[in-house]
Amino acid sequence: MSGNSQVVIVGAGFSGITASKILAQAGVNVILIDRNSYNTFIPLLYQVATGLLQPQQVIYPVSRILKNYPQARFLQAEVNDTDFERQIIHTHAGEIDYNYLVLATGSQPQFAEVPGASEYGKPLVSLSDAVKLRQHLLTCIEQAQQELSPEQCKMLLTFVIVGGGPTGVEMAGGLCELLNSLLTKNYPQLRQLSEVILLQSRDRLLVSFPEKLSRYTAQHLQKMGVKLQFSSRVQRVSPEGVQLEDGTIIPTATTIWTAGVEANPATDTENLPTARKGKIVVQPTLQIPNYDHVYAVGDVAYVKLGDEALAGVAPEALQQGEATAHNILRQIRGKSPQPFEYIDKGRAAIIGRNAGVVSKDKLQLQGILGWLIWLGIHFYYLPGGRNRLNVVYSWICDNIQQSRFVKPILSPYPEFKSLYPHNKPILTVSQGAKPMKYIPLVGRSFLSSIFLYSAITKIFGFAGTQQMIADRGLPFPTLMLLGNIIFQLVGGISLILGYKTRIGALVLIAFLIPTTLVFHNFLADPAETTAFLKNLALIGALLMVSYFGAGPVSLDTGSGVDKI
Ligand SMILES: Cc1cc2nc3c(=O)[nH]c(=O)nc-3n(C[C@H](O)[C@H](O)[C@H](O)COP(=O)(O)OP(=O)(O)OC[C@H]3O[C@@H](n4cnc5c(N)ncnc54)[C@H](O)[C@@H]3O)c2cc1C
Repeated sequence: MSGNSQVVIVGAGFSGITASKILAQAGVNVILIDRNSYNTFIPLLYQVATGLLQPQQVIYPVSRILKNYPQARFLQAEVNDTDFERQIIHTHAGEIDYNYLVLATGSQPQFAEVPGASEYGKPLVSLSDAVKLRQHLLTCIEQAQQELSPEQCKMLLTFVIVGGGPTGVEMAGGLCELLNSLLTKNYPQLRQLSEVILLQSRDRLLVSFPEKLSRYTAQHLQKMGVKLQFSSRVQRVSPEGVQLEDGTIIPTATTIWTAGVEANPATDTENLPTARKGKIVVQPTLQIPNYDHVYAVGDVAYVKLGDEALAGVAPEALQQGEATAHNILRQIRGKSPQPFEYIDKGRAAIIGRNAGVVSKDKLQLQGILGWLIWLGIHFYYLPGGRNRLNVVYSWICDNIQQSRFVKPILSPYPEFKSLYPHNKPILTVSQGAKPMKYIPLVGRSFLSSIFLYSAITKIFGFAGTQQMIADRGLPFPTLMLLGNIIFQLVGGISLILGYKTRIGALVLIAFLIPTTLVFHNFLADPAETTAFLKNLALIGALLMVSYFGAGPVSLDTGSGVDKI
């Protein structure tokens, strides 16, 4: 339908991906550009930073998201500037021309010109921010365990979070849970010394939520041990601490900057109308004034509906991506674009385990119900079925165990290379024995026992088994028996040791399927029904292992380093 129209979309976030899919589905040629090869699920970044999730659980390859959209091409490149007159964008990989352009480049931390904030404050808007923050937190905790000076120890264990919006609140709750997990049992005196301080410039937390929910949030955080300071503005950040406007100095090695974000336009905005937070002011149709073929959507756009500007949350970005795609389709068909209409989906924030807040019109939910709704929403929107399962598994484990097996991250991703110049983890956190971590080992041992036992009995009863195979009329009985023994030994040993476990499980499945069909075919012989179902159960268990891997206490994860 597109003729030769080419739509270039910069930014593979919530809005860019949505627009790409709709346009490609309609047969339009789309080039989606992002600096990363993956889409980041930003709302779960704080869970990476606080050790609840692994980085790979919150990212998903863009090429895989677009795999069913042949009209859409993904290009990994950094966009430096755009030339709206010549309809060209400049990337580090070269120039690309477009018929329609969508700027969906999201946001970046806003340091509000506070001296030292951009140098020493730790932002949380990208995956690399989350990974760096996690490494920093673990380093502080580990160094504190070895620190002899009480002042230094206190400074290492004081964590200041600037900004009492949803990210600040989520980070404060998550950080308390991390500290409880790492320190309460093994170093109770250090847990007592540690402090999470949440600084809020306003007189309440979560100002975009109703007051009742703000109060609940504050009470819950205080119960978790967070120290709240309202009407506190930061004047300066340094490596040794935070100075407030009233002159107070809080000694800390960690200032987490969640005090807001601003537009990240990826283009020179000098000749564009901009508003608060550097956002590009767009027309009601989301087009940039004077450039009918250029749209700005999501966090980068200043969209005013009535008297109020949109805040910059994911549902807005999703809906703007959708509206933009439909407007471009209208333009291609020679029709005029339509004004964007927003359907408010409400707000949700999580405070900690079993505590969240949700507000939608008059509906106000708090506590476990708010928490469950928050989890449900994020589960629904997280890209990738496997990621979803992994994340839910992590949430369930965290809730049952109430502790985290936090490990440093050794990453092959180039963007993290500077963090690990020698490709070594910077620390390991010893947590003592946790009984739960032996459960997968016990499970793997039980599962492998039947295969090892069967292989050993066949070795000792080689001639008899060989005869039995021959009696069934199967060809090459010796070869088949040898293969049978090798498959069971290799798979069984792989399971017990947890070495190349996924492959081991697949080897056993490959052995079980023909064996079950030939020797335990219940259709041919109803007496084989139980044996058939037993083998089916084994295949089921092996499928679980091949999907989830060996788990802890295994050679696959034995290095103690998470690879992403
Ligand atoms: C920590 C945090 C937590 C949040 N939690 C929630 C939440 O719980 N619920 C909610 O509704 N909202 C939440 N938000 C807001 C929400 O994430 C954003 O509103 C949403 O991501 C905006 O989507 P977007 O499409 O505009 O941009 P993004 O999703 O940010 O995507 C922008 C993309 O552009 C790419 N890009 C940027 N510059 C360039 C360039 N120069 N060249 C190439 N590519 C580029 C980036 O790599 C990125 O992939 C949160 C935000 C943050 C920072």
